[in-house]
Amino acid sequence: MTVIPTAATPHPAPVITHAEEDHPAYLWRDGHILPWAEANVHASSLGWSTMAAVFEGIKAYANPHTGAQWGWQFAEHYQRFAQSMRLQRMRPEFTPLELADISRELLRANGHTGDTYIRPLAWLSDVTWFTDGESSRTSIVIITEPFSSHLRTGRTVKSCISTWIRVGDNQLSPRVKCISNYQNSRLALIEAKRNGFDQPILLNQAGKVTEGPASCLFLVRDGVMITPSLTSGVLESITRTALIRLCREELGLTVQERDVDRTELYVADEIFFCGTGAEMLPVSSIDHFQVGDGGVGPLTSRLEKVFHDVVRGIHPGYSNWRTPVSHA
Ligand code: PMP
Repeated sequence: MTVIPTAATPHPAPVITHAEEDHPAYLWRDGHILPWAEANVHASSLGWSTMAAVFEGIKAYANPHTGAQWGWQFAEHYQRFAQSMRLQRMRPEFTPLELADISRELLRANGHTGDTYIRPLAWLSDVTWFTDGESSRTSIVIITEPFSSHLRTGRTVKSCISTWIRVGDNQLSPRVKCISNYQNSRLALIEAKRNGFDQPILLNQAGKVTEGPASCLFLVRDGVMITPSLTSGVLESITRTALIRLCREELGLTVQERDVDRTELYVADEIFFCGTGAEMLPVSSIDHFQVGDGGVGPLTSRLEKVFHDVVRGIHPGYSNWRTPVSHA
């Protein structure tokens, strides 16, 4: 890459390249598996073109006993990806089924056989200035990277109620994963971290509990599992739906999807975040109120074991949630 000096940048800016081991060999873009370094985007298409960008966060988990790797809820994630694109009036050239197959192919091409994150992103690739973007082509890229699961490690987080209000369905719908929504999440996260917390919880315009910056939320009161309803201003979380089913079918618990008041969190027996990235993340305190004994609560712990075993295929049930990727 040649950098031409200008008045504003008299010295060429350093070219930062990732070390070989920092990235996988390949990614997939618009129909092709490409070597990492060749997947460039022109600078003029950045900015406005990503205003409507939507993404997914998907995982594949390995079974430590058999070595088999399972894609976790590929169909559900690519269905939501399609829903996110629909709300942005994007016209993808690939179906959810095709994108799920491509993800398996990419995992194999990159030789990822352990726990792996899969990140599809769709954006308006012809847009270089502010416009409705409806006539633009929709480009899609899929990136894979290994991750370390914190399931069943005992990790907990300190939480707080954010002063930032969650975006509403008539503003930037939190129902889908549009990049622009995450500015709202980011502001809340910055505030929480600067105030010494790990993860904020945002309220909606009506003052009811919604979710974390990138995760949904459950609380336990008197043995009942409670989570804010899907119309309270939360992402239609795939983990949330899976956990509701596991709570009912595996633990025999009552689950309520309803409005949740802020002070219910202060008197809850257990609270945990959930999501593809968050997996299950127990909350040790909220606004300095200790939750339970400050560790992983008993129902959270039981649910986490079931979830862990199901995603890794140790629990043989729920097989339609798992897609085989590689088998050792
Ligand atoms: N809410 C937000 C804002 C998120 O970004 C995520 C992560 N995708 C979640 C909730 C959890 O959703 P899922 O279980 O589908 O990953």
